[in-house]
Amino acid sequence: MFKKVHLRLTLLCAGITAVIMIIMSLCYLYVSERGLYQNQFQAFQNDINTISTNLEQQTVISMEWLSKMEAQGNYRFFVLDNGVPFLYNQLNDPEETRKNDRLLLESRDALNALPDMAASVNVGINGTLTHFEYEFTSPSTETEYFCSVIRMGTGNSLLEIVVLFSLRRLEQQIREQRIRFLLIDLAAVLLLGIFAWFFTGILLKPIAENQQKQALFVASASHELRTPLSVILSAAECCRNAPFEKQEGFIRTIYQEGLRVSSLVTDMLTLSQSDSHRFPVRKEPTELDTLLMNSYEAFEPLAQEKSILLSLRLPEEALPLYPVDPERISQVIAILLHNAISYTPEHGRITLSLTRHKENFTAKIKDFHNTDSHAALSGSLSTGGRFTVSVTDNGIGISDADKKKIFDRFYRVEKSRSTKDHFGLGLSIAYEIVKAHGGTIMVKDAKGGGSCFTVTI
Ligand code: ADP
Repeated sequence: MFKKVHLRLTLLCAGITAVIMIIMSLCYLYVSERGLYQNQFQAFQNDINTISTNLEQQTVISMEWLSKMEAQGNYRFFVLDNGVPFLYNQLNDPEETRKNDRLLLESRDALNALPDMAASVNVGINGTLTHFEYEFTSPSTETEYFCSVIRMGTGNSLLEIVVLFSLRRLEQQIREQRIRFLLIDLAAVLLLGIFAWFFTGILLKPIAENQQKQALFVASASHELRTPLSVILSAAECCRNAPFEKQEGFIRTIYQEGLRVSSLVTDMLTLSQSDSHRFPVRKEPTELDTLLMNSYEAFEPLAQEKSILLSLRLPEEALPLYPVDPERISQVIAILLHNAISYTPEHGRITLSLTRHKENFTAKIKDFHNTDSHAALSGSLSTGGRFTVSVTDNGIGISDADKKKIFDRFYRVEKSRSTKDHFGLGLSIAYEIVKAHGGTIMVKDAKGGGSCFTVTI
């Protein structure tokens, strides 16, 4: 499914970008070609003005002068006396002469075909000279020409000089420019396709991974739920057939397994809330030392049961209030302490400690949800910064390979060494809570063996 989506996204991204690029290229070509054309026409007009001025000043139009002008500006000159071509137009090659005659005729036809002379042609007057310029396409040579007709005299002695400028070179230039753009656009579309494939791949990667994780989560959750549920069902079945005095035992099993299912479902709900960004974190000014003390007192009996020495280390100076969700942070500490007690053998040692990082930090009062307490507490909120809670044990420790995975959902280092109430969700919940507080949670080896979990917020 992801391959199809990947392909579609690539086509969409590359297609849209390519269409925009092609439209922009076409706009550029249009503007540039118009500019080239106008510049060429302007240059032609300027040349005609110069030629007209020169003609004005000459009493005799010499063929030599015309030939020189022809050679200079790539022009074709035709001299007509009362509409009859002069000998000047005759060339040595009769074929060339025929071609020229046809061109002259076509230019005359084009001039006659102009619907409105004043509106269609450019008219200039130089003393006794009039000249006008227009453009036409020669059907015989299939080439566009700029044409100017310079007229001298009137009535019976009308001398006309027809000047033709072929746009073949300009057309060639425009054609080359179009081909260049086409090649550039093709190369760009190809590159865009490759880049789009690459980038949409990067974009889709986390989505694909997420989907895989979700599938794994559902599979693991079903697997974890199946065990207590089958125990409940078989205990219920046995309870039905058991004598009254033995039923109590089965009921206790059903109750305990029911509690397991309930705690597992609560954990899964917490994680699903975190995934859908509905993780409730209600920050309020919190006395961290009191919070740690409460956690310590709650876990001391459990530690004592295993003859584990649980100690608490707090900073000596008075602590500021920290903007955290006390319930959630207590939950993190509980997860860490519960794990430490579970994975530390009898007569082990566990230390819960709090370190304050002294930084110049002004807590933002608007971060707190409990607005009533703001005014009263604002004085003591002026400093704080980061703090670290750590839980260090001298238990079985965690290998480097497992350190990377223990925050994954349902991951347990060795299922056999976990007790029944460990589903492999504790650390992933702790991770989400710490993340929601903008903090970090890490694990490293403790000095002398065991593990040390640190939460910095
Ligand atoms: P669980 O509920 O199974 O403890 P967690 O997510 O809390 O799940 O922990 C994941 C795994 O990390 C555990 O199964 C255990 O193997 C390992 N682990 C966690 N804390 C410790 C610890 N203090 N010492 C050794 N291993 C630990």
